Amino acid sequence: MNKKKVIRNTVLGALGVAAGATAIKAAKYVPEKKDYGQPTEENVDAKRCQEHLSKAISIPTISYPDKANIDFTQFDKFHAFLEEAFPLIHKTLEKEIVQEASLIYRWKGTRDDLDPIALLAHQDVVPISEGTEQDWEHEPFSGYNDGEFIWGRGALDMKNHLIGVMDAVETLLEEGFQPERDVYLLFGQDEEVVASEDGGAKNIMRTLKERGIHLDCVLDEGGAIIPVNVKGILNNKELIGVGIAEKGYTDIEITVTAKGGHSSQPPVHSGLGELANVIKDLENHQFKAELMPFVKNLFSGVGRSCTYPARLITCNLDYLQPLLKYGMTKIPFAACLVRTTTAVTMAQGSPAANVLPQKASVVVNFRQMPGVTVQDVVDHIRKVCRNKDIEINVLKAKEASKFSPTDSRAFRIIEKLCMQDNPNSIVAPYLVMGGTDACYYEPICENIYRYAPYKVSVPLLRNTHGTNERIPVEAVAPAVAFFKKYIRNASAE
Ligand SMILES: [Zn+2]
Repeated sequence: MNKKKVIRNTVLGALGVAAGATAIKAAKYVPEKKDYGQPTEENVDAKRCQEHLSKAISIPTISYPDKANIDFTQFDKFHAFLEEAFPLIHKTLEKEIVQEASLIYRWKGTRDDLDPIALLAHQDVVPISEGTEQDWEHEPFSGYNDGEFIWGRGALDMKNHLIGVMDAVETLLEEGFQPERDVYLLFGQDEEVVASEDGGAKNIMRTLKERGIHLDCVLDEGGAIIPVNVKGILNNKELIGVGIAEKGYTDIEITVTAKGGHSSQPPVHSGLGELANVIKDLENHQFKAELMPFVKNLFSGVGRSCTYPARLITCNLDYLQPLLKYGMTKIPFAACLVRTTTAVTMAQGSPAANVLPQKASVVVNFRQMPGVTVQDVVDHIRKVCRNKDIEINVLKAKEASKFSPTDSRAFRIIEKLCMQDNPNSIVAPYLVMGGTDACYYEPICENIYRYAPYKVSVPLLRNTHGTNERIPVEAVAPAVAFFKKYIRNASAE
């Protein structure tokens, strides 16, 4: 054999071995086999749960940033409805109102040596955007049930969840169940008012903290059960997102001071022109991207569940990480999973068309990754903007949460119940993009999970906060069954 042939055969041989190795690796690259046990049956009165949800939606408990605009009589009505709909809860549990309308229910357990568990929900909903009322197929506060969907504001965010928890507890009481641990139901009044300084959830947490209460675990809104079907790659799976952390939220106003004067004699760059450079600097210098462990786990969970030919690629994700990270920064819905985002949203110049601005300002909304603080955001602005005379003013801020562990008792219960209900599920711990009330409980709890056990498609989820928010009727009863099982399991030792 000549030299060339030897080299060619060696290369081909090496490629053959590599391909063979990949094929073997791909064949073995499957979800870890764990025995989650058999699902237990739970009694749920589906019709009654649906009626409760419809009625709850029909009471417009809308929150606004300015408290003066909130109609608290609607919250009183909502409380009266809860009393009427859930008589055993109101007979057995201790109820307390903190702030104006936030609710604490305590179901006393038989063991006071164990930390209590808490199920969270918020009572408030966002308003209907002005001018869009007519776009709704059924009135936004009708709670109309057409047999396929229950319509209205709060159907997904999150009267469904609040009523689901209440129905679960009421049914457990009817069945004579008694928890070992105390079970707290904690329903804030103003979650939708982001980073509210004196919010309901903060006050509930403070009340519990003052009493020396430490919670074993918290379950709040966040992920859902999302059916996924990518033909030939991912067949009939359910992606179950369990939020183990949430991003921070910061609004910052950046102001540039200029000379002003009459617009007939303008300088080359007015205050707004100077500000344009600030905006460009911010957009051109994004925060550093990082593939955090939860993203790697997410890809590995999905990758292992793919069909065999697709696994030839997904089994090599470890090597593809730099490429993956780069790719993700180019797609907005993926970029937010790997870095703190920068969104320039509002701008202000002078008050009249023929006046040069003496001050020009923009508002930038940042969503921080866990580990990035509000101060880090301010430092980042200072670093990347060439204009060193800018004024930076933090308008509103909420730090990102910590990560909750995925090996806790509560997480394992959630995972077990999900896998029992559908062995085809992919349970994926993930990062919640929006805010929830759950993060306020960090001072009294380490195991905080954000998961709503409702099976809802992605297009339907997009209606949250929008027109035609609605929930599939068939998603209601299984969620109540989940809450029942969760309470049975999590309230035990
Ligand atoms: Zn919500």
